[in-house]
Amino acid sequence: MAVREIGTGRGDLTSPSTAPDAFARPAVSQSLCALLFALDLGLRFLGDVDSGPWPRVGAGLLVVVTLAAFVLPWDRLPAASPAALAVADLLVIGLFRLDAQGGGSAVLMVLPGLYLGRYFGRRGVVVTAVAAVLLVGVPNFLYFGLDGPNVSRMVLSVLVAVVAAMAMALAVSRLQHERRVSAAILDSVDVGLVLLDAEGAYQAYNRRHGDFMRLAYPEGHAGMAGQLGLVYDADGSTEVPTQDMPSTLASMGEEFDDLRIWVGDDPVSRRALSVSARAVRDASGDLAGAALAYTDVTELMRALTVKDEFISLVSHELRTPLTSIHGYAMLLLERHDLDPQVRSQLEVVVRNTERLQRLVEDLLHTGQIDDEAMYFRRVECDLVQIVRQAVQAAEPHARDRGVTLGLRTPQRLMLRVDPQRIAQVLDNLLSNAIKYTEPGGRVTVALGTDVNRVEIAVTDTGVGIDAADRDRLFTRFFRSQHAEEQSIQGVGLGLSIARSIVEGHGGRIDVDSEIGRGSTFRVRLPLS
Ligand code: ADP
Repeated sequence: MAVREIGTGRGDLTSPSTAPDAFARPAVSQSLCALLFALDLGLRFLGDVDSGPWPRVGAGLLVVVTLAAFVLPWDRLPAASPAALAVADLLVIGLFRLDAQGGGSAVLMVLPGLYLGRYFGRRGVVVTAVAAVLLVGVPNFLYFGLDGPNVSRMVLSVLVAVVAAMAMALAVSRLQHERRVSAAILDSVDVGLVLLDAEGAYQAYNRRHGDFMRLAYPEGHAGMAGQLGLVYDADGSTEVPTQDMPSTLASMGEEFDDLRIWVGDDPVSRRALSVSARAVRDASGDLAGAALAYTDVTELMRALTVKDEFISLVSHELRTPLTSIHGYAMLLLERHDLDPQVRSQLEVVVRNTERLQRLVEDLLHTGQIDDEAMYFRRVECDLVQIVRQAVQAAEPHARDRGVTLGLRTPQRLMLRVDPQRIAQVLDNLLSNAIKYTEPGGRVTVALGTDVNRVEIAVTDTGVGIDAADRDRLFTRFFRSQHAEEQSIQGVGLGLSIARSIVEGHGGRIDVDSEIGRGSTFRVRLPLS
Protein backbone atom coordinates (compact mmCIF):
# COMPACT_ATOMS: atom_id res chain seq x y z
CA MET A 1 0.00 0.00 0.00
CA ALA A 2 1.52 3.25 -1.14
CA VAL A 3 -0.39 5.21 1.48
CA ARG A 4 1.48 6.60 4.41
CA GLU A 5 0.21 6.73 7.94
CA ILE A 6 0.84 9.68 10.16
CA GLY A 7 2.84 8.72 13.20
CA THR A 8 3.84 5.26 12.12
CA GLY A 9 7.23 6.34 10.91
CA ARG A 10 6.19 5.79 7.32
CA GLY A 11 5.64 9.43 6.52
CA ASP A 12 3.52 12.15 8.03
CA LEU A 13 1.06 14.88 7.40
CA THR A 14 3.41 17.67 8.40
CA SER A 15 6.16 16.95 5.88
CA PRO A 16 7.04 20.24 4.17
CA SER A 17 7.15 18.46 0.86
CA THR A 18 5.20 15.31 0.44
CA ALA A 19 6.78 14.69 -2.98
CA PRO A 20 9.50 12.03 -2.81
CA ASP A 21 12.94 13.62 -2.29
CA ALA A 22 14.66 13.24 -5.67
CA PHE A 23 18.12 13.76 -4.21
CA ALA A 24 17.70 10.69 -2.04
CA ARG A 25 18.19 8.70 -5.25
CA PRO A 26 21.93 7.99 -5.67
CA ALA A 27 21.78 8.43 -9.45
CA VAL A 28 20.36 11.96 -9.13
CA SER A 29 22.69 13.25 -6.44
CA GLN A 30 25.74 11.66 -8.07
CA SER A 31 24.81 13.15 -11.46
CA LEU A 32 24.73 16.61 -9.91
CA CYS A 33 28.13 16.01 -8.35
CA ALA A 34 29.58 14.64 -11.61
CA LEU A 35 28.28 17.67 -13.49
CA LEU A 36 30.15 20.08 -11.21
CA PHE A 37 33.32 17.95 -11.40
CA ALA A 38 33.02 17.99 -15.19
CA LEU A 39 32.64 21.77 -15.06
CA ASP A 40 35.86 22.00 -13.05
CA LEU A 41 37.68 19.82 -15.58
CA GLY A 42 36.19 21.71 -18.53
CA LEU A 43 37.23 25.08 -17.10
CA ARG A 44 40.73 23.77 -16.48
CA PHE A 45 40.86 22.65 -20.08
CA LEU A 46 39.66 26.02 -21.33
CA GLY A 47 42.17 27.78 -19.10
CA ASP A 48 44.86 25.66 -20.75
CA VAL A 49 45.80 24.17 -17.41
CA ASP A 50 47.80 21.01 -17.91
CA SER A 51 46.38 18.68 -15.26
CA GLY A 52 48.86 16.12 -14.08
CA PRO A 53 48.29 12.35 -13.91
CA TRP A 54 46.35 12.32 -10.59
CA PRO A 55 43.44 14.46 -11.72
CA ARG A 56 43.13 12.16 -14.74
CA VAL A 57 42.93 9.16 -12.41
CA GLY A 58 40.32 11.15 -10.48
CA ALA A 59 38.31 11.75 -13.65
CA GLY A 60 38.42 8.02 -14.41
CA LEU A 61 37.24 7.22 -10.88
CA LEU A 62 34.45 9.78 -11.25
CA VAL A 63 33.17 8.01 -14.37
CA VAL A 64 33.20 4.66 -12.54
CA VAL A 65 31.42 6.08 -9.48
CA THR A 66 28.77 7.81 -11.59
CA LEU A 67 28.12 4.65 -13.57
CA ALA A 68 27.85 2.68 -10.31
CA ALA A 69 25.26 5.18 -9.07
CA PHE A 70 23.13 4.30 -12.06
CA VAL A 71 23.59 0.55 -12.29
CA LEU A 72 23.80 -0.73 -8.73
CA PRO A 73 20.51 -2.08 -7.28
CA TRP A 74 20.34 0.37 -4.36
CA ASP A 75 16.94 -0.90 -3.22
CA ARG A 76 18.43 -4.26 -2.42
CA LEU A 77 21.68 -3.00 -0.87
CA PRO A 78 21.95 -1.95 2.77
CA ALA A 79 20.44 1.47 3.46
CA ALA A 80 23.84 3.02 4.25
CA SER A 81 25.46 1.95 0.95
CA PRO A 82 24.89 5.24 -0.96
CA ALA A 83 27.24 6.85 1.58
CA ALA A 84 30.04 5.02 -0.25
CA LEU A 85 29.37 7.19 -3.31
CA ALA A 86 29.86 10.38 -1.31
CA VAL A 87 33.08 8.98 0.15
CA ALA A 88 34.27 8.07 -3.36
CA ASP A 89 33.48 11.63 -4.46
CA LEU A 90 35.72 12.93 -1.68
CA LEU A 91 38.46 10.64 -3.02
CA VAL A 92 37.90 12.09 -6.51
CA ILE A 93 38.33 15.57 -5.03
CA GLY A 94 41.49 14.40 -3.26
CA LEU A 95 42.90 13.24 -6.59
CA PHE A 96 41.81 16.43 -8.40
CA ARG A 97 43.67 18.42 -5.77
CA LEU A 98 46.97 16.65 -6.50
CA ASP A 99 47.86 19.12 -9.17
CA ALA A 100 50.39 21.90 -8.84
CA GLN A 101 48.17 24.38 -10.57
CA GLY A 102 45.17 23.39 -8.48
CA GLY A 103 41.62 24.18 -9.52
CA GLY A 104 38.33 24.98 -7.84
CA SER A 105 37.60 21.42 -6.83
CA ALA A 106 38.23 21.92 -3.07
CA VAL A 107 34.97 23.79 -2.74
CA LEU A 108 33.14 20.76 -4.15
CA MET A 109 33.77 18.94 -0.85
CA VAL A 110 30.63 20.71 0.34
CA LEU A 111 28.49 18.47 -1.87
CA PRO A 112 29.36 15.08 -0.31
CA GLY A 113 29.21 16.87 3.08
CA LEU A 114 25.65 18.07 2.47
CA TYR A 115 24.61 14.67 1.17
CA LEU A 116 26.08 12.75 4.11
CA GLY A 117 24.64 15.21 6.64
CA ARG A 118 21.18 15.12 5.01
CA TYR A 119 20.76 11.37 4.78
CA PHE A 120 22.99 9.99 7.53
CA GLY A 121 22.74 12.65 10.23
CA ARG A 122 25.46 12.70 12.86
CA ARG A 123 27.13 9.60 11.48
CA GLY A 124 27.28 11.39 8.11
CA VAL A 125 29.10 14.30 9.77
CA VAL A 126 31.72 11.93 11.23
CA VAL A 127 32.12 10.17 7.88
CA THR A 128 32.55 13.55 6.15
CA ALA A 129 35.20 14.68 8.65
CA VAL A 130 37.20 11.42 8.53
CA ALA A 131 36.95 10.97 4.75
CA ALA A 132 37.77 14.64 4.04
CA VAL A 133 40.88 14.47 6.24
CA LEU A 134 42.07 11.05 5.02
CA LEU A 135 41.16 11.28 1.34
CA VAL A 136 41.67 14.96 0.61
CA GLY A 137 43.76 16.55 3.40
CA VAL A 138 46.42 13.88 4.02
CA PRO A 139 47.26 13.13 0.33
CA ASN A 140 47.44 16.86 -0.25
CA PHE A 141 49.97 17.39 2.54
CA LEU A 142 51.97 14.36 1.41
CA TYR A 143 52.06 15.69 -2.13
CA PHE A 144 52.69 19.39 -1.49
CA GLY A 145 54.18 19.38 1.99
CA LEU A 146 53.09 21.60 4.84
CA ASP A 147 53.70 25.01 3.31
CA GLY A 148 51.61 27.90 4.71
CA PRO A 149 49.00 28.74 1.99
CA ASN A 150 48.40 25.08 1.20
CA VAL A 151 47.75 24.19 4.83
CA SER A 152 45.30 27.05 5.24
CA ARG A 153 43.45 26.21 2.01
CA MET A 154 43.14 22.56 2.88
CA VAL A 155 42.16 22.96 6.51
CA LEU A 156 39.50 25.54 5.64
CA SER A 157 38.04 23.41 2.82
CA VAL A 158 37.79 20.38 5.11
CA LEU A 159 36.20 22.48 7.85
CA VAL A 160 33.66 24.03 5.48
CA ALA A 161 32.63 20.54 4.30
CA VAL A 162 32.23 19.34 7.88
CA VAL A 163 30.28 22.45 8.93
CA ALA A 164 27.98 22.04 5.90
CA ALA A 165 27.36 18.40 6.92
CA MET A 166 26.65 19.45 10.52
CA ALA A 167 24.25 22.25 9.53
CA MET A 168 22.35 19.89 7.27
CA ALA A 169 22.23 17.13 9.89
CA LEU A 170 20.95 19.59 12.51
CA ALA A 171 18.23 21.02 10.24
CA VAL A 172 17.03 17.55 9.32
CA SER A 173 16.99 16.36 12.91
CA ARG A 174 14.96 19.45 13.96
CA LEU A 175 12.51 18.84 11.16
CA GLN A 176 12.15 15.20 12.09
CA HIS A 177 11.55 16.14 15.70
CA GLU A 178 8.82 18.57 14.71
CA ARG A 179 7.26 15.93 12.51
CA ARG A 180 7.26 13.44 15.34
CA VAL A 181 5.61 15.96 17.66
CA SER A 182 2.93 16.81 15.09
CA ALA A 183 2.42 13.14 14.32
CA ALA A 184 2.01 12.35 18.01
CA ILE A 185 -0.58 15.11 18.35
CA LEU A 186 -2.48 14.03 15.24
CA ASP A 187 -2.42 10.42 16.35
CA SER A 188 -3.75 11.28 19.76
CA VAL A 189 -6.97 12.83 18.41
CA ASP A 190 -10.03 10.66 18.13
CA VAL A 191 -10.86 11.94 14.65
CA GLY A 192 -9.70 10.34 11.40
CA LEU A 193 -7.62 12.82 9.40
CA VAL A 194 -6.68 12.51 5.75
CA LEU A 195 -4.71 14.70 3.40
CA LEU A 196 -5.23 14.38 -0.35
CA ASP A 197 -3.15 15.96 -3.10
CA ALA A 198 -4.57 17.78 -6.12
CA GLU A 199 -4.99 14.50 -8.03
CA GLY A 200 -6.85 12.85 -5.15
CA ALA A 201 -3.92 10.68 -4.08
CA TYR A 202 -3.73 10.02 -0.35
CA GLN A 203 -0.77 11.94 1.03
CA ALA A 204 -1.17 10.86 4.61
CA TYR A 205 -3.67 9.81 7.24
CA ASN A 206 -3.51 9.36 10.96
CA ARG A 207 -3.85 6.18 12.99
CA ARG A 208 -7.54 6.67 13.74
CA HIS A 209 -8.29 6.89 10.06
CA GLY A 210 -6.20 3.77 9.55
CA ASP A 211 -8.81 1.94 11.69
CA PHE A 212 -11.67 3.27 9.53
CA MET A 213 -9.78 2.34 6.34
CA ARG A 214 -9.37 -1.24 7.54
CA LEU A 215 -13.14 -1.47 8.08
CA ALA A 216 -13.99 0.08 4.72
CA TYR A 217 -11.28 -1.65 2.70
CA PRO A 218 -10.44 -5.02 4.23
CA GLU A 219 -8.71 -5.96 0.96
CA GLY A 220 -6.45 -2.87 1.09
CA HIS A 221 -6.57 0.57 -0.45
CA ALA A 222 -4.70 1.78 -3.53
CA GLY A 223 -4.26 5.29 -2.16
CA MET A 224 -6.54 7.15 -4.57
CA ALA A 225 -9.76 8.98 -3.64
CA GLY A 226 -13.03 7.35 -4.66
CA GLN A 227 -12.09 3.68 -4.30
CA LEU A 228 -15.22 1.56 -3.86
CA GLY A 229 -15.41 -0.40 -0.64
CA LEU A 230 -17.68 -1.24 2.25
CA VAL A 231 -18.86 2.36 2.39
CA TYR A 232 -22.60 2.99 2.78
CA ASP A 233 -24.94 5.94 2.81
CA ALA A 234 -26.47 7.34 6.00
CA ASP A 235 -29.16 4.64 5.70
CA GLY A 236 -26.43 2.06 6.30
CA SER A 237 -27.32 -0.07 3.30
CA THR A 238 -26.97 1.87 0.01
CA GLU A 239 -23.42 1.52 -1.32
CA VAL A 240 -21.81 4.89 -1.98
CA PRO A 241 -20.77 5.16 -5.65
CA THR A 242 -17.35 6.56 -6.55
CA GLN A 243 -18.68 9.98 -7.53
CA ASP A 244 -20.40 10.44 -4.14
CA MET A 245 -17.51 9.28 -1.95
CA PRO A 246 -16.46 12.04 0.47
CA SER A 247 -12.88 11.69 -0.79
CA THR A 248 -13.99 12.14 -4.43
CA LEU A 249 -16.06 15.21 -3.59
CA ALA A 250 -13.19 16.67 -1.55
CA SER A 251 -10.65 15.99 -4.29
CA MET A 252 -12.83 18.02 -6.65
CA GLY A 253 -12.59 20.98 -4.29
CA GLU A 254 -15.99 20.59 -2.61
CA GLU A 255 -16.21 21.66 0.99
CA PHE A 256 -18.83 20.12 3.28
CA ASP A 257 -19.71 19.24 6.86
CA ASP A 258 -21.49 16.37 8.53
CA LEU A 259 -21.74 14.10 5.49
CA ARG A 260 -22.84 10.83 7.08
CA ILE A 261 -21.56 7.46 5.95
CA TRP A 262 -21.20 3.97 7.38
CA VAL A 263 -18.02 1.93 6.94
CA GLY A 264 -17.78 -1.84 7.28
CA ASP A 265 -20.53 -4.41 6.96
CA ASP A 266 -20.24 -6.29 10.20
CA PRO A 267 -23.20 -5.17 12.35
CA VAL A 268 -21.08 -5.09 15.48
CA SER A 269 -17.86 -3.48 14.30
CA ARG A 270 -19.17 -1.14 11.57
CA ARG A 271 -18.91 2.57 12.30
CA ALA A 272 -20.96 5.61 11.35
CA LEU A 273 -18.83 8.59 10.38
CA SER A 274 -19.57 12.26 9.99
CA VAL A 275 -17.20 13.66 7.37
CA SER A 276 -16.07 17.26 6.87
CA ALA A 277 -13.80 18.46 4.09
CA ARG A 278 -11.88 21.61 3.33
CA ALA A 279 -9.97 22.46 0.16
CA VAL A 280 -6.24 23.16 0.39
CA ARG A 281 -5.14 25.91 -1.98
CA ASP A 282 -1.68 27.01 -3.05
CA ALA A 283 -0.37 30.58 -2.96
CA SER A 284 -2.05 31.38 -6.27
CA GLY A 285 -5.41 30.03 -5.07
CA ASP A 286 -5.36 26.88 -7.19
CA LEU A 287 -6.61 23.65 -5.69
CA ALA A 288 -3.62 21.86 -4.18
CA GLY A 289 -5.51 19.11 -2.38
CA ALA A 290 -8.00 18.58 0.43
CA ALA A 291 -8.10 17.81 4.12
CA LEU A 292 -10.83 15.52 5.48
CA ALA A 293 -11.90 14.83 9.05
CA TYR A 294 -13.91 11.70 9.94
CA THR A 295 -15.71 11.78 13.30
CA ASP A 296 -17.16 8.59 14.74
CA VAL A 297 -20.90 9.15 15.33
CA THR A 298 -21.91 5.50 15.65
CA GLU A 299 -23.39 5.84 19.12
CA LEU A 300 -25.43 8.86 18.10
CA MET A 301 -26.76 7.14 14.96
CA ARG A 302 -27.66 4.01 16.92
CA ALA A 303 -29.39 6.08 19.57
CA LEU A 304 -31.38 7.93 16.88
CA THR A 305 -32.44 4.65 15.28
CA VAL A 306 -33.53 3.22 18.62
CA LYS A 307 -35.44 6.40 19.39
CA ASP A 308 -37.23 6.37 16.03
CA GLU A 309 -38.09 2.68 16.35
CA PHE A 310 -39.35 3.31 19.84
CA ILE A 311 -41.48 6.27 18.79
CA SER A 312 -42.97 4.39 15.90
CA LEU A 313 -43.67 1.29 18.02
CA VAL A 314 -45.23 3.23 20.87
CA SER A 315 -47.38 5.33 18.57
CA HIS A 316 -48.64 2.29 16.68
CA GLU A 317 -49.42 0.55 19.94
CA LEU A 318 -51.25 3.60 21.29
CA ARG A 319 -53.39 4.24 18.25
CA THR A 320 -55.70 1.25 18.54
CA PRO A 321 -56.68 1.63 22.22
CA LEU A 322 -57.07 5.38 21.75
CA THR A 323 -59.44 4.92 18.83
CA SER A 324 -61.53 2.61 20.93
CA ILE A 325 -61.57 4.95 23.99
CA HIS A 326 -62.59 7.84 21.74
CA GLY A 327 -65.26 5.80 19.95
CA TYR A 328 -66.90 4.56 23.14
CA ALA A 329 -66.74 7.97 24.81
CA MET A 330 -68.48 9.46 21.75
CA LEU A 331 -71.12 6.74 21.90
CA LEU A 332 -71.77 7.53 25.53
CA LEU A 333 -72.07 11.23 24.73
CA GLU A 334 -74.87 10.43 22.28
CA ARG A 335 -77.07 9.25 25.16
CA HIS A 336 -79.75 11.68 26.27
CA ASP A 337 -80.11 10.44 29.82
CA LEU A 338 -76.66 11.62 30.92
CA ASP A 339 -76.22 13.55 34.09
CA PRO A 340 -74.84 17.02 33.08
CA GLN A 341 -71.81 16.54 35.29
CA VAL A 342 -71.03 13.14 33.73
CA ARG A 343 -71.48 14.68 30.29
CA SER A 344 -68.98 17.42 31.02
CA GLN A 345 -66.52 14.87 32.44
CA LEU A 346 -66.96 12.73 29.35
CA GLU A 347 -66.28 15.75 27.18
CA VAL A 348 -62.97 16.18 28.99
CA VAL A 349 -62.18 12.54 28.23
CA VAL A 350 -63.01 13.06 24.55
CA ARG A 351 -60.97 16.29 24.29
CA ASN A 352 -57.93 14.76 25.86
CA THR A 353 -58.24 11.58 23.83
CA GLU A 354 -58.31 13.74 20.71
CA ARG A 355 -55.20 15.56 21.85
CA LEU A 356 -53.46 12.28 22.44
CA GLN A 357 -54.58 11.05 19.03
CA ARG A 358 -53.12 14.15 17.40
CA LEU A 359 -49.86 13.63 19.23
CA VAL A 360 -49.71 9.99 18.15
CA GLU A 361 -50.43 11.05 14.56
CA ASP A 362 -47.61 13.57 14.74
CA LEU A 363 -45.22 10.98 16.12
CA LEU A 364 -46.17 8.49 13.43
CA HIS A 365 -45.79 11.17 10.86
CA THR A 366 -42.26 11.93 12.05
CA GLY A 367 -41.37 8.29 11.63
CA GLN A 368 -42.66 8.45 8.08
CA ILE A 369 -40.52 11.47 7.30
CA ASP A 370 -37.48 9.48 8.36
CA ASP A 371 -38.47 6.54 6.22
CA GLU A 372 -38.81 8.98 3.31
CA ALA A 373 -42.10 7.23 2.74
CA MET A 374 -44.23 10.32 3.00
CA TYR A 375 -46.67 9.93 0.23
CA PHE A 376 -48.60 12.78 -1.34
CA ARG A 377 -51.92 12.30 -3.04
CA ARG A 378 -51.92 15.37 -5.23
CA VAL A 379 -55.13 16.50 -6.83
CA GLU A 380 -56.26 19.72 -8.41
CA CYS A 381 -58.08 21.56 -5.62
CA ASP A 382 -59.13 25.01 -4.51
CA LEU A 383 -56.69 26.32 -1.91
CA VAL A 384 -59.22 28.95 -0.83
CA GLN A 385 -61.52 26.16 0.33
CA ILE A 386 -58.72 24.48 2.28
CA VAL A 387 -57.70 27.72 3.97
CA ARG A 388 -61.33 28.60 4.83
CA GLN A 389 -61.96 25.20 6.35
CA ALA A 390 -58.76 25.41 8.41
CA VAL A 391 -59.75 28.81 9.76
CA GLN A 392 -63.24 27.52 10.56
CA ALA A 393 -61.79 24.54 12.38
CA ALA A 394 -59.53 26.83 14.43
CA GLU A 395 -62.38 29.11 15.50
CA PRO A 396 -63.33 27.30 18.73
CA HIS A 397 -59.69 27.28 19.85
CA ALA A 398 -59.33 31.00 19.03
CA ARG A 399 -62.57 31.82 20.85
CA ASP A 400 -61.39 29.95 23.95
CA ARG A 401 -58.17 31.95 23.94
CA GLY A 402 -59.86 35.27 23.18
CA VAL A 403 -58.00 35.64 19.90
CA THR A 404 -59.66 37.12 16.78
CA LEU A 405 -59.25 35.32 13.47
CA GLY A 406 -59.03 37.10 10.15
CA LEU A 407 -58.93 35.80 6.57
CA ARG A 408 -57.91 37.37 3.25
CA THR A 409 -58.22 35.22 0.15
CA PRO A 410 -59.02 35.58 -3.54
CA GLN A 411 -62.20 34.00 -4.91
CA ARG A 412 -60.59 30.83 -6.06
CA LEU A 413 -57.06 29.48 -6.34
CA MET A 414 -56.63 26.13 -8.02
CA LEU A 415 -53.43 24.16 -7.34
CA ARG A 416 -52.30 20.53 -7.51
CA VAL A 417 -51.55 19.60 -3.91
CA ASP A 418 -52.36 16.94 -1.36
CA PRO A 419 -55.33 18.73 0.30
CA GLN A 420 -55.11 16.79 3.56
CA ARG A 421 -51.41 17.44 4.02
CA ILE A 422 -51.74 21.15 3.20
CA ALA A 423 -54.65 21.34 5.64
CA GLN A 424 -52.38 19.72 8.21
CA VAL A 425 -49.76 22.46 7.64
CA LEU A 426 -52.41 25.15 8.08
CA ASP A 427 -53.81 23.48 11.21
CA ASN A 428 -50.33 23.45 12.73
CA LEU A 429 -49.57 27.06 11.84
CA LEU A 430 -52.96 28.27 13.04
CA SER A 431 -52.90 26.33 16.26
CA ASN A 432 -49.39 27.69 17.00
CA ALA A 433 -50.41 31.24 16.14
CA ILE A 434 -53.37 30.99 18.53
CA LYS A 435 -51.36 29.19 21.22
CA TYR A 436 -48.58 31.78 21.22
CA THR A 437 -50.85 34.85 21.12
CA GLU A 438 -52.15 36.48 24.26
CA PRO A 439 -55.94 37.02 24.69
CA GLY A 440 -57.05 40.10 22.77
CA GLY A 441 -54.57 39.39 19.99
CA ARG A 442 -55.24 38.70 16.32
CA VAL A 443 -54.33 35.98 13.86
CA THR A 444 -54.72 36.57 10.13
CA VAL A 445 -54.41 34.15 7.26
CA ALA A 446 -53.71 35.65 3.84
CA LEU A 447 -53.61 33.74 0.59
CA GLY A 448 -52.18 35.24 -2.56
CA THR A 449 -50.08 34.63 -5.65
CA ASP A 450 -47.17 36.26 -7.38
CA VAL A 451 -45.56 35.42 -10.72
CA ASN A 452 -44.89 31.78 -10.18
CA ARG A 453 -45.93 30.85 -6.71
CA VAL A 454 -48.68 30.80 -4.15
CA GLU A 455 -48.13 32.31 -0.74
CA ILE A 456 -50.04 31.50 2.43
CA ALA A 457 -49.12 33.80 5.31
CA VAL A 458 -50.24 33.16 8.88
CA THR A 459 -49.62 36.30 10.93
CA ASP A 460 -50.13 36.70 14.64
CA THR A 461 -49.71 39.48 17.16
CA GLY A 462 -48.25 37.06 19.70
CA VAL A 463 -45.13 36.62 21.76
CA GLY A 464 -42.72 36.45 18.78
CA ILE A 465 -39.69 34.24 18.38
CA ASP A 466 -36.17 34.93 19.50
CA ALA A 467 -33.72 35.38 16.59
CA ALA A 468 -31.47 32.68 18.07
CA ASP A 469 -34.35 30.18 17.96
CA ARG A 470 -35.47 30.86 14.41
CA ASP A 471 -33.02 28.48 12.75
CA ARG A 472 -34.04 25.62 15.01
CA LEU A 473 -37.80 26.11 14.91
CA PHE A 474 -38.26 23.55 12.17
CA THR A 475 -36.16 20.82 13.78
CA ARG A 476 -37.90 17.97 15.50
CA PHE A 477 -38.74 18.31 19.18
CA PHE A 478 -37.55 21.89 19.32
CA ARG A 479 -39.48 24.03 21.75
CA SER A 480 -38.58 27.57 22.69
CA GLN A 481 -37.67 28.37 26.24
CA HIS A 482 -40.76 30.58 26.41
CA ALA A 483 -43.04 27.66 25.46
CA GLU A 484 -41.40 25.47 28.09
CA GLU A 485 -41.48 28.12 30.80
CA GLN A 486 -45.11 28.98 30.19
CA SER A 487 -45.98 25.25 30.03
CA ILE A 488 -47.70 25.79 26.69
CA GLN A 489 -48.83 22.42 25.41
CA GLY A 490 -46.86 20.87 22.56
CA VAL A 491 -44.00 18.54 21.80
CA GLY A 492 -42.14 20.46 19.10
CA LEU A 493 -43.17 18.37 16.10
CA GLY A 494 -45.71 20.57 14.32
CA LEU A 495 -43.29 22.83 12.44
CA SER A 496 -40.93 20.05 11.43
CA ILE A 497 -43.86 18.14 9.97
CA ALA A 498 -45.13 21.31 8.26
CA ARG A 499 -41.76 21.87 6.70
CA SER A 500 -41.44 18.34 5.34
CA ILE A 501 -44.92 18.57 3.81
CA VAL A 502 -44.22 21.96 2.20
CA GLU A 503 -40.82 20.84 0.91
CA GLY A 504 -42.39 17.63 -0.34
CA HIS A 505 -44.57 19.87 -2.51
CA GLY A 506 -41.48 21.66 -3.83
CA GLY A 507 -42.18 24.69 -1.66
CA ARG A 508 -40.58 26.57 1.22
CA ILE A 509 -41.64 27.68 4.65
CA ASP A 510 -40.04 30.48 6.59
CA VAL A 511 -40.72 32.89 9.37
CA ASP A 512 -40.43 36.59 10.16
CA SER A 513 -40.80 37.51 13.76
CA GLU A 514 -40.22 40.18 16.33
CA ILE A 515 -40.22 39.47 20.04
CA GLY A 516 -43.33 40.88 21.70
CA ARG A 517 -44.90 41.96 18.38
CA GLY A 518 -45.73 38.73 16.64
CA SER A 519 -44.73 36.35 13.87
CA THR A 520 -45.56 35.62 10.25
CA PHE A 521 -45.11 32.10 8.92
CA ARG A 522 -45.02 32.03 5.10
CA VAL A 523 -45.65 28.94 3.04
CA ARG A 524 -44.67 29.33 -0.61
CA LEU A 525 -45.74 26.70 -3.10
CA PRO A 526 -44.80 26.62 -6.79
CA LEU A 527 -47.70 27.36 -9.13
CA SER A 528 -46.63 24.74 -11.65
P1 ADP B 1 -45.03 22.92 19.53
O1 ADP B 1 -45.92 24.08 19.23
O2 ADP B 1 -45.76 21.66 19.68
O3 ADP B 1 -44.09 23.19 20.65
P2 ADP B 1 -43.96 23.35 16.90
O4 ADP B 1 -42.99 22.54 16.10
O5 ADP B 1 -45.27 23.63 16.27
O6 ADP B 1 -44.11 22.65 18.27
O7 ADP B 1 -43.26 24.70 17.24
C1 ADP B 1 -41.94 24.72 17.73
C2 ADP B 1 -41.69 25.94 18.58
O8 ADP B 1 -41.76 27.08 17.77
C3 ADP B 1 -42.72 26.16 19.65
O9 ADP B 1 -42.36 25.49 20.83
C4 ADP B 1 -42.70 27.65 19.84
O10 ADP B 1 -41.69 27.97 20.76
C5 ADP B 1 -42.29 28.18 18.51
N1 ADP B 1 -43.43 28.74 17.76
C6 ADP B 1 -44.11 28.14 16.77
N2 ADP B 1 -45.04 28.96 16.26
C7 ADP B 1 -44.97 30.10 16.97
C8 ADP B 1 -45.65 31.34 16.93
N3 ADP B 1 -46.65 31.57 16.06
N4 ADP B 1 -45.29 32.30 17.80
C9 ADP B 1 -44.28 32.09 18.67
N5 ADP B 1 -43.59 30.95 18.75
C10 ADP B 1 -43.91 29.96 17.92
